[in-house]
Amino acid sequence: MYISWAAELCREVGLMMPEVELRSRVESCDARKKKKKPLQVNRILDYSVGRRMAGEAAANCLFCQIARSLTSNTLLHTDDKVVAFEDINPSAFRHYLVIPVKHIATVKDLQRSTEDFNFVSHMLNVGQDLVHRDAPESKEYKFGFHRPPFNSVDHLHLHCFALPFTPRWKHVKYVSLGPLGGFIEAEKLLQKIKP
Ligand SMILES: [Zn+2]
Ligand SMILES: [Zn+2]
Repeated sequence: MYISWAAELCREVGLMMPEVELRSRVESCDARKKKKKPLQVNRILDYSVGRRMAGEAAANCLFCQIARSLTSNTLLHTDDKVVAFEDINPSAFRHYLVIPVKHIATVKDLQRSTEDFNFVSHMLNVGQDLVHRDAPESKEYKFGFHRPPFNSVDHLHLHCFALPFTPRWKHVKYVSLGPLGGFIEAEKLLQKIKP
């Protein structure tokens, strides 16, 4: 389960980890667990999280390159603050990402302030417009962010879904895990950072 889930997360942004390496990381996690040390899920995800070394962030960031139109990704929306594009490995009938043009690493870098509140509201508005436009027949939509260490890329990205999830099991990637983190709905994040 861990293997397929982690591989899935890597694939989310087109980062492929050789299965052998992934398996050995999972096994080393299992070994730690047997020694009664806490399971370090983030070790499995390190590869896709992008080697959090100081100073390396924006220069090597895939999403910064997408935001600057340096990749072949088709942009569904651009303005001076955000761009939107289809998730490279969609988990739902429609699955778009809205990202800031400027490099913001994760939701942890957002503060309770008018500026950040308005910014996230803008991301959400852009995402809502796009999925409603492209999938008006969907009965349910979902919008939210992964919280570290469950984020696959260290560049803030709003997942925007027109449901259903395809295949259905993929919903597990987008559920809140309470204090462990996981996924936070955009509306909930907005409540948290509302000034
Ligand atoms: Zn970036
Ligand atoms: Zn994500």
